[in-house]
Amino acid sequence: MEYKFEKAIHGTIGNEKYTCTMQWRNGTFIADEPKKSGGKDRGPDPYTLLLSSLASCTLITLRMYIDRKEWDIKEITVNANMYQETRNEELVTIIDRDIRTEDKITEEQRKRLVEIARACPISRLLEGKTEVRTFIYDEGQEAKQLYYGNGEISVKWKPELCRHAARCVGQLPQVFNSKAKPWVDAHAATTQQIIEQVGRCPSGALGIRYDNLQVKPGIE
Ligand code: SF4
Repeated sequence: MEYKFEKAIHGTIGNEKYTCTMQWRNGTFIADEPKKSGGKDRGPDPYTLLLSSLASCTLITLRMYIDRKEWDIKEITVNANMYQETRNEELVTIIDRDIRTEDKITEEQRKRLVEIARACPISRLLEGKTEVRTFIYDEGQEAKQLYYGNGEISVKWKPELCRHAARCVGQLPQVFNSKAKPWVDAHAATTQQIIEQVGRCPSGALGIRYDNLQVKPGIE
């Protein structure tokens, strides 16, 4: 299991209704709620972000395909909107995606473009099975710390902070193996791989102690 993004999307909200600062790999943007929902409309709301994700993924995927085919289609636009209704006591979300171009296309091209749009990654994600795993972390009380070293570094583990989300186990299983004793083998991967994996622990349960000053002088 490997995450799609090395750095998670990071969002923060304070007391100001409902300004969310979202950090992505190349900057920040604001998400908000419209005024009728108590926000200031300073940025797209979550539904808009979801539809934008589908619209942009559709456009990018179609552009890649059209360019590969060398079809003469200059501009494509997408309108995306949604509604929800209850069917058999189940909430069903219907998203309509309208794709337009000012250029003339053949019937064959039209059919193919619909297929390609339906195969774009976000389409497949929305129409496939998605599982949202939710964990909550707080500062926690620091207590026991355990160390597992390889001569250069030691992996520091704070059991009280570990939420057993198994990200380390899934992503670097040769080092983090919950069935082994001790459960961390710091000799089973390179120091750099271990440092990177430790940085992905979401709870702060893992840390690095630098035992060899040549690896990272003076930093714990
Ligand atoms: S990634 Fe962090 S919180 Fe998750 S199991 Fe490993 S040590 Fe625990």
